[in-house]
Amino acid sequence: MFIDVHPEEVAFLNRVKDFVSQEVLPHTREWERNAAFPDEIWPRLGELGLLGLTLSKNKGGSGSSCHLYCHAIKEVAKGDPALAMNLSAINALCVAHFEHFSSDEQRERYAQGVVSGQIKMAWALTEPDAGSDARRVKTVATPIEGKAGFYHLNGQKMFITNGGKADLIVVVARTSEKELSAFLMETDQPGFQIEKRITTVGVSASNTVQFSLKDAIGWHTPCTFEEAIGLLYRGRLGIAGMAVGIAEKAFELTCDYSKQREQFNRRLADMQSVQNMIADSAMEIEASNLLLDNGARRFDLGLPIIKESSFAKLYASETANRVTNRAIQIHGGRGMTQEFLVEKLWRDAKLTEIGEGCSEIQRMVIAKQVLR
Ligand SMILES: Cc1cc2nc3c(=O)[nH]c(=O)nc-3n(C[C@H](O)[C@H](O)[C@H](O)COP(=O)(O)OP(=O)(O)OC[C@H]3O[C@@H](n4cnc5c(N)ncnc54)[C@H](O)[C@@H]3O)c2cc1C
Repeated sequence: MFIDVHPEEVAFLNRVKDFVSQEVLPHTREWERNAAFPDEIWPRLGELGLLGLTLSKNKGGSGSSCHLYCHAIKEVAKGDPALAMNLSAINALCVAHFEHFSSDEQRERYAQGVVSGQIKMAWALTEPDAGSDARRVKTVATPIEGKAGFYHLNGQKMFITNGGKADLIVVVARTSEKELSAFLMETDQPGFQIEKRITTVGVSASNTVQFSLKDAIGWHTPCTFEEAIGLLYRGRLGIAGMAVGIAEKAFELTCDYSKQREQFNRRLADMQSVQNMIADSAMEIEASNLLLDNGARRFDLGLPIIKESSFAKLYASETANRVTNRAIQIHGGRGMTQEFLVEKLWRDAKLTEIGEGCSEIQRMVIAKQVLR
């Protein structure tokens, strides 16, 4: 049930729920096995309006609230967390460049294609030597003489979601010793080379890659490093939404299982130790939802969310890991088998404690804000 949400938004979220139950959840194992989403998924996501949530209507998107974006990500995560992670990155990071930094010419060239799913995108900040300490980015952007706005990009990027499939990548690169900015880079060019597909413990359907850039041509989408990094605050709310979706799905499956399975002549659901785990999970999911809604509502009101997005991401991601861990415990041996979804949710949950700033960085951000 959606509380305090506009009827049009409820209708949209119900469409997303139907899509997830009919077209996502039944295929999540197959996509994981194939380590890929089917290509047809992108136009389908576009048709549903899931690729342009953060883009204003006058720029070709749906101009949705941050609250709606977070809840859409949450619903998708219940079917496939890797797909939710991709949607979070596309909306909060990629498409946001068309909202805030791109020229009209850039927007006209790409935005519609991205929103409709014809152009697949990725956002590349992380490098082999620049992870949590993103300022260490070594990829260099050098202006191309006689081609205003275009730069040669040289360097390496690592752990890039959808990087192996993307037609267009936002590359964060160094423009001088102190300055960094962002560049739109088409992947169909000789300067772009995928070095390797990265195999991960969870979210495996997502095409995560390491790539190198050798005089690749990038089109400047002017922003400061702080502005580019600032997109991560809403991004963290998206990852929090993904975490809550994972936790809610694992919780639902666990409650059902605990009511069916009997040992010692009673249901697992009637055993107090099991009830304790279920009660803790229920409360932590509720708290995660409240932190998520608080961050999203503040964003929609134009209030700062630096601390609140870290609250939501940190708490929801740790909740997702605890809840999926308990879910396996309550499923017993079966919980460790591929016959039950909880083992996959447990593996997928790990990403939420690492991507878009690991938990230690979230605590650092919160401490900095509260000790100011
Ligand atoms: C599946 C997946 C998808 C990803 N997608 C993208 C993407 O699309 N685009 C992109 O740019 N990046 C992406 N990333 C990268 C992700 O954002 C980084 O992995 C993350 O920021 C951590 O960086 P790192 O892995 O280099 O870890 P490191 O920075 O090396 O940190 C390792 C560990 O050290 C500890 N640590 C680090 N710094 C501190 C500190 N200051 N205080 C205390 N402890 C600390 C933490 O425990 C941390 O987990 C993705 C990663 C994964 C796994």
